[in-house]
Amino acid sequence: MVEHYLTYTYGISQLLIFFVYAPHLLTVIRSERADAISVPAQLSFFTIGAISALYMIVVNKDPLATTVICGHIIIGNLSTALIAFYKQRKANLVMDTQFFICSSTDARNNGLLPRCDTRIELRSGYAYNCPTCSAPLIAEAAREKTERAKR
Ligand SMILES: [Zn+2]
Repeated sequence: MVEHYLTYTYGISQLLIFFVYAPHLLTVIRSERADAISVPAQLSFFTIGAISALYMIVVNKDPLATTVICGHIIIGNLSTALIAFYKQRKANLVMDTQFFICSSTDARNNGLLPRCDTRIELRSGYAYNCPTCSAPLIAEAAREKTERAKR
């Protein structure tokens, strides 16, 4: 009799946990880069959980516990890992860099620098200032375009 109630308590309480996965997965899905998720750790949890599931079905012949473990590792770990992997890979592809050059053309730093020729590789899509003379940096490709237009 006690075993009967414990089985139901186990099954129902485990079922309730799956509702917790919804906000967790939504947070991962809505985050831009999912960089708080460790993909190798999630895949390790999945692998260890899969071994537990095998043990539960082969040694203990317990389909309920096996189903619960499979649910946890597939919904909790594997899907989190796959979504995070996709997002992190996409973020790395988007994060491209380009060369920026100093926009100044005259002498800088009270004449101590006859001409600033700072050229630096930085992440694209942001506005920077020259680390040497503080004039705005411009994308090297943009400078080449305007010089070509002048000719
Ligand atoms: Zn400069």
